[in-house]
Amino acid sequence: MEVLLASPRGFCAGVNMAIECLDEAVRRVGSGIYVYHEIVHNQYIVERFTKQGVTFVDSPDEVPEGSVLLFSAHGVSPEIRKAARDRRLQTVDATCPLVTKVHLEAIRFAREGYHIILIGHEGHDEVIGTMGEAPESTTLVESPEDVERLPFSESDKLACLTQTTLSVDEASAVISALRRRYPQVEMPKKEDICYATTNRQQTVKELVGQVQLLLVLGSQNSSNSRRLAEIGETHGIAAYLIDGVDELQADWFAGVESVLVTAGASAPEILVQEVLQRLEQDFGGKVTEHRLSEEHVHFNLPRELQQLGQR
Ligand code: SF4
Repeated sequence: MEVLLASPRGFCAGVNMAIECLDEAVRRVGSGIYVYHEIVHNQYIVERFTKQGVTFVDSPDEVPEGSVLLFSAHGVSPEIRKAARDRRLQTVDATCPLVTKVHLEAIRFAREGYHIILIGHEGHDEVIGTMGEAPESTTLVESPEDVERLPFSESDKLACLTQTTLSVDEASAVISALRRRYPQVEMPKKEDICYATTNRQQTVKELVGQVQLLLVLGSQNSSNSRRLAEIGETHGIAAYLIDGVDELQADWFAGVESVLVTAGASAPEILVQEVLQRLEQDFGGKVTEHRLSEEHVHFNLPRELQQLGQR
């Protein structure tokens, strides 16, 4: 069986930074660290930190006063920052700078009197955080149909922002619908969908025509991983989003001669390697890597980490 290994795949610069940040916080403070929501949307990573004594919470109210609270890569709303301040928590912000960029755009547009149309998935941590920057001035849409239902007129001051991990194709369909209905809509200066999301999708789109099956390493709540699996479905082949090698099922490979393997931006490489090993051992897999673009993005750790005490 031919196994095409997509590259780039897996960890992006934002996920790398968030994980390094939490590793460093644990080194400095020990196990009594709290993280608002999952540090990144990946089961393996969350379990690793839980074993090290890190506690993941859904509200700053769950954190004992004076403790260390880390904000995850997806970003938080000003309301959560205030709740953390009110409890006198020592906070470290591991928000990906590319998410922060969208927050800053939301703040600027709202200050300039725009109503913001945010393209994103309801309930996703990043969307909740971005909407929280200007809740009165933001409306969420997910599809071109949602755009048709918007109550605004052609004279309203409108701006558009997007979640960073959307399907590039789906987002562009929604943006086209917005531009058609509201030609005056302002767009941010630079694309909100991040480089990592774009590159991983582009790589899968270019390779998917050569295979009969797509395997994506990633968790079900990882937005960018789900978008990768959807590309397989769009191209009419079976596509599975899996957390690891244990989820592989032999009947997926019956009559299959070619497989494409990739990983979402929050899935560690060790999980990919375990899957490749199994494909080689049990299914006669011959792996070839296909690199379609290079990535050299790096984000520095947040400065407030330096203030955390040593153990
Ligand atoms: S997927 Fe993109 S926006 Fe999200 S953490 Fe990675 S680089 Fe940042």
